[in-house]
Parts: sequence; C-alpha cells; structure tokens
Amino acid sequence: MPPEPEVGSSIVGMSAASPTAVKRAAELREHLARAQYEYYVLDRPALSDTEYDRLFRELQRLEDAHPDLLTPDSPTQRVGAPVQSSFASHRHLVRMMSLDNAMDDDELQAFEQSVVRAVGDGLHKHGYTVELKIDGAAIALTYEHGVLVTGATRGDGTTGEDVTVNIRTVQSVPLRLHGTDHPARMEIRGEVYLPFAGFERMNEARIAAGEPVFVNPRNAAAGSLRQLDPAITAARPLRFYGYAAVLPDGSAPAKTQWALLDTLSAWGIPVAPHRQRCSTMSEVAAWAHTVEHTTRAELGFAIDGGVVKVNDMAMQDELGVRNDRTPRWAIARKFAPDMAETRLIAIEVNVGRTGVLTPFAVLEPVDVGGATVTYASLHNADQIAKKDLRAGDRVQVVRAGDVIPYVLGPVPEHRTGEEVPWEMPAQCPRCATATQRYGDDVATYCPNVACPGRQLEGLVHFASKDAMDIDGLSYARIQQLLSAELVHDVADLYDVTVMQLAGLERFAQKSAENLAAAIGTSKGQPLSRLLFGLGIRHVGAQAAQLLARHFGSLDALMSASAQQLGAVRGIGDIIAQSVADYFADTTTRALMERLRDRGLTLTEPQAVAADGALSGSTVVITGTLPGLSRGEATALVERAGGRVTSSVSKKTTFVVAGEEAGSKLDKAVELGVEVIDEAELRRRVEASG
Ligand code: NAD
Repeated sequence: MPPEPEVGSSIVGMSAASPTAVKRAAELREHLARAQYEYYVLDRPALSDTEYDRLFRELQRLEDAHPDLLTPDSPTQRVGAPVQSSFASHRHLVRMMSLDNAMDDDELQAFEQSVVRAVGDGLHKHGYTVELKIDGAAIALTYEHGVLVTGATRGDGTTGEDVTVNIRTVQSVPLRLHGTDHPARMEIRGEVYLPFAGFERMNEARIAAGEPVFVNPRNAAAGSLRQLDPAITAARPLRFYGYAAVLPDGSAPAKTQWALLDTLSAWGIPVAPHRQRCSTMSEVAAWAHTVEHTTRAELGFAIDGGVVKVNDMAMQDELGVRNDRTPRWAIARKFAPDMAETRLIAIEVNVGRTGVLTPFAVLEPVDVGGATVTYASLHNADQIAKKDLRAGDRVQVVRAGDVIPYVLGPVPEHRTGEEVPWEMPAQCPRCATATQRYGDDVATYCPNVACPGRQLEGLVHFASKDAMDIDGLSYARIQQLLSAELVHDVADLYDVTVMQLAGLERFAQKSAENLAAAIGTSKGQPLSRLLFGLGIRHVGAQAAQLLARHFGSLDALMSASAQQLGAVRGIGDIIAQSVADYFADTTTRALMERLRDRGLTLTEPQAVAADGALSGSTVVITGTLPGLSRGEATALVERAGGRVTSSVSKKTTFVVAGEEAGSKLDKAVELGVEVIDEAELRRRVEASG
C-alpha cells in the first residue's frame, strides 16, 4: 500500500463525502476517541491494538479521500491524549511524536520511495538504523549538565505529566550520566517497560489483593508510572531503554541515529539490544523478519514491532514531520501481536515419565505472534490456583520469553459466574490410580509405575539424546511399540527383534534393522546415562553423572543408603532420598536385574580427575553448541577434571557459549569472566590428553 497521502494534498478522484461516509467518519471519531481515552488515560484498553489500528486506518483513509470530513479534534490528528491527572504538567523541549505504521514489506518499500522522493538517492550513504519497538510507555527525561531533573510522560506530545518522583525509582534510569561534558540541557527519550516476569508477578499480587489485573505489560508500565505514591512505582520492576535525545534547538547530539545510540550507551543510558544498521530496505525487511519470528520469543519483554529510522540526522531534518504528529523519517514496522485473548475451553492433565501430572490449557485456537495456539502448559495445581484459572474463562496468552505458549491469567471481568475453581483430579486420568502429593512438592503424581501415560513418556525420555541416545526411536515409534504390546518398560526394548519391528506398519526392513542396531548399541552407554534415562524423580543429567562417577557401578549405587548418597558432593537430601526410595522398590530391583541380563553396561568409566587439563575449573555452558549436546559438553569438561555449574559468578573459570546464548553470556561479560566457544573447549580438553 502506498504511503498515506497528506491531508489537503490533491488526490485524483477526490469527491465530496456521501452521507454514509459522513456518518461513518463520525462513528469512527467517537469510537477512536473513546479508545484513546481508555488506553492513554485509564490504562485500561477495551479494544485490541489490531482492532484499534484497523479503525484508525479506516478513518485516515476516509479523511484522505474527503478532506472536508477532517475535523481539528479528529483522533488521527493527535498524539496520545491530553493530560488529565493530579500530576503537574511538563512542557516538552520539542514536541514528542507518534509513528506511522508499515504493516508489511510492501508498506516498507512505499516508505522508502517517499523518502527517496523527498531527499533523493543520497539516503543510501548512511542508510537506516533499525531498533526494537519496545511496547511500553514513552517518557522524556530532562538532564541538565548530565543530572536528571525531570521525567515526564508523552501526554499529548506537547505537554506531559511530570512523574519525576516515579521515574527516580526506575533503577535503569541514570540519575547522573556517565562521563563529562554533557549538554547544558537536553531531553533523552525512551520507553519505560515491564518485563514479562515482573508483569506476571505484579498481576499475581493484584489477584491476591482482589484488584483488577493489568491487561498487558504496556498498560501496566504506563499505569505504574502514573501512580501517586512513588513507593508503589518503586515496587514494580520497571525498566528503561533510551532511543533519542534532543537539544533545546531541536537538534540531536550526534550526526546519525546510530551514533546517537552509541552516545546514549556511553552516557549509561540502557539501549535496547538487536539494533542494526541497514543500507537497503530489503535488509530492513530481513531484520524485521528475524526479529518477529526468532528474536522476539527470547526477549522476555514485549515489543510490537521494529522502528526504521533514516540514519542521517541532517536528512531527518530535511524530511521533517507530517501533520505535527508523525516524523517522515521514521516508520514502525508492526508485528502480529504476541499476546492475545481467547477462551479457556478446558483444563486437562498429562502424565509425565516420573508420574507427574501436568495440567494444560485447551484453548479456543488463537493467533499469537504469528502462530496458532491451542494448548499451553499450566505447570501445576498451585499455579492454576494462584492465577485462579477456571474452565470457561477468557484468558490472555503470550508467546514470548519463550516459544512455548503461556497463559498469563484470566480476565475476571468477563466471567459469567458459572465458572468453578479447578482441582487436580484425585485419580490418574490414564490409569485411574489414586494420585498423590509428597510433602511440600508442588507436583501431584500418579504413583503407578505401570501407568500407560508414564510408560510412553518414560520410554521417550530413556531414548532421548542426553540419556541412552537411541537413534530412530521416536515418539511415534514408541507409541507403535506400546500399542503392539511389544514393550511395556525399558528392559523390554532390548528383547524386540528385527522381525517384530519389520512386521509393524510403516517399518521397512532396513529401518527395522537400523533401529534394532541402535537399541543394541545403547547397551554400551555408561551408567550415568542409564541413571538419567530411568527418570528417577529429581535426578537430572548432572546428578546422574555425579552419582555414577562417585559409585562407579550400579551395584554400589543400589546398596548405598540415603545418607551415603547425600554425602556425594552436589547431591542434596531430596535427590538422595528419591534415589534411595527408587532402588528400595522391588519393581525397580526386578527391572535392574532384567537390564543386567540383557547385557547393559552398568558401570561408569572413571574420569580423569585430579590431573585433568580442567582440574579445579568451574565451567558454565550456555546456548547451543555446534557439535555437542549439553550432556556431551558436560561429560567432556568433567572427564578433563572440570566442574560444570549452571550459574555464572565471579568464581566461574570460563563460560562456553554457543548460538543463542542469553543472560548467562551477558552476565559473564558483565563480570569479566572469560567466554570461549566449542572449538576452544575441545582444544583445552585435548591438552589433557
Ligand atoms: P506507537 O506506539 O505505535 O508508536 C510511537 C511510540 O513508539 C513512541 O511514542 C515511542 O513511545 C514508541 N517506541 C518504542 N520503541 C521506539 C524506538 N526504538 N524508537 C522510537 N519510538 C519507539 O504510537 P502511539 O501513538 O503511542 O500509539 C498508537 C498505538 O497504540 C496504536 O497503533 C495502537 O497499537 C495502540 N493504541 C491502542 C488503543 C486501544 O484501544 N487498544 C488505543 C490507542 C492506541
């Protein structure tokens, strides 16, 4: 779609408005004005952003086609909403703007054409800077000689609310800028936002206090900033990212947007990650695609798009503003919303390998951030009770911070009164055995080791990469083996013959042979992998390795008391008790005998310990390594005498980082801990011979 023509410009085919158009424009004005009030003043929007944007564009199009319909108070002509609050008003140094939207790549191209039309081809010298569009509340911070003097909301663009006392409680806003030689007076602009984790905690507390929940992190951030009691704002984990600075004459303290972001960063202003310089609009489009479909899921805070800015400040000046409302040198590339509202049809329960019952939400299918979501894990009964989720509720679903969909909570205002609080079933949904909870453990279990739900998940885990690593034994194949009654437990796997496999549907002779061979090969896996693969409650890959390494053989491990198990470094009482209970069980003992009869390796090769190349080293592994699974990398470090831990501290010797390493890598950089890649790890380990 071409860029919106300016109001008042001559449009071919423009005609006087029909009575229908007049009526529709009036309706849209009224509807949008109410939505703006609910969104900007009350912080409680009643419309979704997508719906608002649709109506806004409809009105813009009507006004463009019939300029006689344009009224000075039209919602399309203003930024935000006039201030109506108990805060003192603050006049901005220079007007704060909104942004025009590009909904797709074609609209980005149209934006580029409009820029080139205005300033010519010189654009490509400095290109564009692209930034995340943080979905928070716009804020202007006034600094005098590097000292924060005022913080104000955007308000109607000209005048905002003076929320300085609240801004001072936002930890990431520097009260004094780093360095020296700052402008006598300037406004730094950016976005105050609330990360998902904080948003969720805040809404949980509000539910507990019987207060209405915030609809989304953006409204929660805006509402928090406009609290009359700064102690309330301080208790909310607000954060800040800066993206602009203006001097009193309207100029910026840098020659390009890119340099400005570097300057802000050098001054100690947090600048959002993932910014990039692009020379062409195709590069911008590619960046936006990656951010929307990959980066966004890992951010932990809401974005609603990317912002594309003409990099050169002189060119920005030349391009100027449109309607006193939006700059002509920037555009927001909007993304599909990553949060949506839908109906929670039912809460059902899945049985995991350790017998844990995991409740999950069955949702009316809804598009969240470009993917259709129908199911979402609800973790455990306590989480459901805390959020007070009930079948039939309208719920908010997000797909961010993680690619796995997540139910934030209900929208209690939509309740009919028929919804009833949910309870964990007293009987396992797969085998009807009475369910159990152990002590303070938040999980509920099906205690029946022969439960078909447990068997399936147990076998899937046993065959997985970090456990017995049985190539080709997929979820679907395990389902087939179970329904053909060829296997019931992990020991049965080793009795399955090529002929039996070849007799199953979709099994060619070759794949039957390959799978049988892979199962056979897994007999040679060390005790640590077997221990992990058995799915003993609380025993992860690391605990399994510590135990296997310490005891050396299954026999020694099985005869250890809970006390002896707990004496192993890194093994706590809960794990120790769980392992002791597991091996005390007669069914387990029988299973171990059957595994022994089938020729599995029940010992652990002894590690190079004291004199390994990494002896005394504490190592953290993060991200996806190109050639090693997490378990393999851990084994590599441990064989060289190093210890692998999960969190980075000053005591960490080095961090091995792979692709998509996140907060652990940031922490390492922050603490000055050495960061190496897989190749370097291999080199160091090889040094141990
Ligand atoms: P906007 O939020 O679409 O874009 C402008 C704002 O983007 C700026 O003010 C700034 O705060 C922010 N921003 C974030 N990161 C930025 C960056 N890196 N660089 C520059 N700016 C950045 O515009 P708006 O005028 O604040 O709001 C309009 C939008 O708000 C609508 O498109 C709609 O999605 C939503 N809205 C919804 C309702 C509703 O009822 N649901 C009502 C009003 C507005």
